[in-house]
Formats: sequence, C-alpha cells, structure tokens
Amino acid sequence: MPRIHRLIRCQTGAVARPPRPRRQQRERDRELRKQVRRTERLAATLPGASAEQPIEVRSASVVEEKARATRCIQCGGDLELRGDRATSTARGVVREIALICRLCHAPRTLWFRVAPPSPN
Ligand SMILES: [Zn+2]
Repeated sequence: MPRIHRLIRCQTGAVARPPRPRRQQRERDRELRKQVRRTERLAATLPGASAEQPIEVRSASVVEEKARATRCIQCGGDLELRGDRATSTARGVVREIALICRLCHAPRTLWFRVAPPSPN
C-alpha cells in the first residue's frame, strides 16, 4: 500500500515535504513485528516445538548438544541454555529445554524425547 501512496505523490508533484521519520519508523516496526509473528507461527510447526512433536533422540547426552546447535529462528544467532525440565512418560523421558538467543534475546523452547533403552 505505502508504495502506491508514494507513487501518487510523485505524480502530483507534491514530494516537497521531507520524509516523516517517525511515521516511517512506526511502519518499519509494524512490519518487523508482523515478520516476527509469522516466523514464530512457522517455527511452532517444526519438530521439537511442542511436547506433542518432540525431537526423538537415542540418548540423553545429545539433547544439550542438539539444542545448542539449533539456531535462533529470528536472527540465526546462537542459543543459550536457560533451563531444562525432564518428565518421564511411557514412551521415554521428555526434556523441555528453555533457550534464549544471545543476539536478539528471542526465547525458544525445544522438546526432546529420549527413547527408552531397548530391552535387549
Ligand atoms: Zn535471535
């Protein structure tokens, strides 16, 4: 939409007014927030985003390593471990790992399920 407005203003020759930085900033902020929400919605569908769709791992020892290897969905930054909660379920131990981005401080929670040891 804003592009059309600008175009019309150009055609009518009324471009003399200086740009209004505050309004532009607000528009940029709004667009950024929209993008963040879009990314969050997308990330919510990824494996590990919820207790219902945990990332399956063979051993508890790889959970932290995998969590740390995950990148921030917003900016690609490194994630820092903030918390770790384990719950035993019939299908294995579910680990809830709380993370925060070192760069943009976006929080993230990753879910893992450690497969129970095989009976043999
Ligand atoms: Zn980030």
